Amino acid sequence: MANALQRRGIERYRIVEKAATVGGTWRENTYPGAACDVPSHLYSLSFAPNAFWSCLFVGQPEIQAHLQSSWAPWIKRNQISFEWTLASLRWDDAAHCWIARSSKGDQLRSRFVVSALGGLHVPSLPDIPGHQRFNGVSWHSAKWQHAQPLSGKRIGVIGTGTSAIQLVPELAKLAGMLTVFQRTPVWVLPRPDLRIPEWMQRLLARLPLIRLALRGVLYLMLEVLSLTLLKPWTAFWARANARFHLWRQVRDPALRARLRPDYPLGCKRIALSNEYLPSFARENVHLESSAISAIEESGVRLADGRLVELDALIYATGFRPMDVIANICITGQSGRELSDAWRERPRAALGMAAHGFPNLFFLLGPNTALGHNSVLYMIESQVLHIDRLLERMRQRGQSRVEATQAAEQKFIDRIDRAFPGTAWAGGCNSWYIDATGQNIALWVGPSWRYRRLVRHPRDSDYRFDCSSTGTAA
Ligand code: NAP
Repeated sequence: MANALQRRGIERYRIVEKAATVGGTWRENTYPGAACDVPSHLYSLSFAPNAFWSCLFVGQPEIQAHLQSSWAPWIKRNQISFEWTLASLRWDDAAHCWIARSSKGDQLRSRFVVSALGGLHVPSLPDIPGHQRFNGVSWHSAKWQHAQPLSGKRIGVIGTGTSAIQLVPELAKLAGMLTVFQRTPVWVLPRPDLRIPEWMQRLLARLPLIRLALRGVLYLMLEVLSLTLLKPWTAFWARANARFHLWRQVRDPALRARLRPDYPLGCKRIALSNEYLPSFARENVHLESSAISAIEESGVRLADGRLVELDALIYATGFRPMDVIANICITGQSGRELSDAWRERPRAALGMAAHGFPNLFFLLGPNTALGHNSVLYMIESQVLHIDRLLERMRQRGQSRVEATQAAEQKFIDRIDRAFPGTAWAGGCNSWYIDATGQNIALWVGPSWRYRRLVRHPRDSDYRFDCSSTGTAA
């Protein structure tokens, strides 16, 4: 967003960031083995390419280092405030501006606000009876405590989502005994762990067209995957691949049966790993698929009465995407709170603009996350939309824009029509779905279709006004 404003010559903006540095999810998730399962040549901003990725899927330290080095050219130091945690946003309809307050009481006034809060950073800690009584150390996968020694310890991991899939093989290398508490097995596909030799990195730096072609090929390959998620019957080749991977990596038929998912591939995020399944062949790793009934001083009590004694317990139990917004008091037109407006379901026109909340835009708002391709492509599509809309308003001297209720409803209807019959609607638990089974997070369709939908903002989706106190700035 900052880059788009900068290109327009708009310098009067401020980025506020709760942490002391940039990086978002890649700053927060530092657990052992953290890596991106979208190829890095695709999982990077189109205007900040990096020819020097060391492999196809790079790890968290390399992504974070790239992010830290790449923001400086287009964001000036005085345009970003670190350690500024947004506590509330209040719309002033007379002045056509938002008043933002930080948790320390600092205040900012701004004509427009773009929320780039991200969806996955409020840890979901299950309310297992007795969890506060545990005498060992425990933490969530996104709050890794690097100072705590784990070598030789009895470690438990709750959860088998994509975070667990990455950290279990690393913990297996150092634990005295590692117990993985599995509620639902996960589909695992092989990960093509290709290193990119230095000569090729130099070639990609010298010949940007080749790098661009590589990016295009990776994008198209992942879009083909979207077909298998939208029409699960076409996923037979991916299912066969995953089953063969499981058969090849786990020789014990009883263990294999416990690791085999019984829901459609893609219903939860598909894991890519060559190391997760073989971890269970190690003598110091145990898969526990009995339900957890409680946590006690010395470990985890299972529903069948057994106690698994532990020194450390890791919650790889995912995130609460809705709490990201719920933790901030956002008051829009006529004193309406966003948490009330979104109580039944988060809704926004094109996933970006909520009716009743003028001049406020969401990057990765409701139903614009992806389960199959680089989410940065969605973010850049949204930036394109917001940038063009604001420019149009500037040219017309307008200072207030609000999505219509009809535009909001049209987007929700489109999502709801496309959702049934997809792999994501296959009956599993996932953060894409709320307690009532509604898809609150995912865009349903190829990502290029979303870009086509949003690239040219339609006036009919919005209501525009001019203020008496000034034009758009
Ligand atoms: P997640 O996919 O939501 O998985 C949470 C895990 O915790 C599930 O296995 C869940 O079991 C288990 N769980 C939750 N509550 C439990 C309880 N009370 N008892 C037992 N098990 C419990 O979380 P995540 O692995 O952190 O991944 C979240 C998202 O982050 C992913 O979907 C993905 O979008 C993103 N991510 C991306 C990458 C990447 O490489 N790009 C890597 C990691 C994460 P059930 O399945 O039975 O609910």
